Amino acid sequence: MLFKKNKEYENKQKVCPDCKNNWREGDLYCRYCGAKMTDPSYIEFEMQCIYGPPPMKRTHTCKECGYSWTTNNMIDREEYCPKCGGSAPYDVSEEELGW
Ligand SMILES: [Zn+2]
Ligand SMILES: [Zn+2]
Repeated sequence: MLFKKNKEYENKQKVCPDCKNNWREGDLYCRYCGAKMTDPSYIEFEMQCIYGPPPMKRTHTCKECGYSWTTNNMIDREEYCPKCGGSAPYDVSEEELGW
C-alpha cells in the first residue's frame, strides 16, 4: 500500500515539459532547450548524487538582453537566456568554489 503525503507538490519538482530539466522560479525560457516556459511539468523530486569535478561558479551574461545570472552546477549545460530565450554564446566567467 502506498503512502501519499498530503501536500501534493511537496516532492515534486518543476521541470521543462520538453527536456525535463530543472525549471527555476521566474524563468521565462528554459535554460537548457530554449522552450518558452508557460506550462511546466512536475516530476517526483529526486535527490541527485553526482560525483565529479568540484562545482564552479559561473557568471553568465546574455549578449542579447544583458541579463546576467550565476550558476554553480558541476556541469554547465545552460545554453539559453532565461529571460529572453536568446541562445549562446554568453560571456561566462568561471571561479572555482572548491570543497
Ligand atoms: Zn527545456
Ligand atoms: Zn537574454
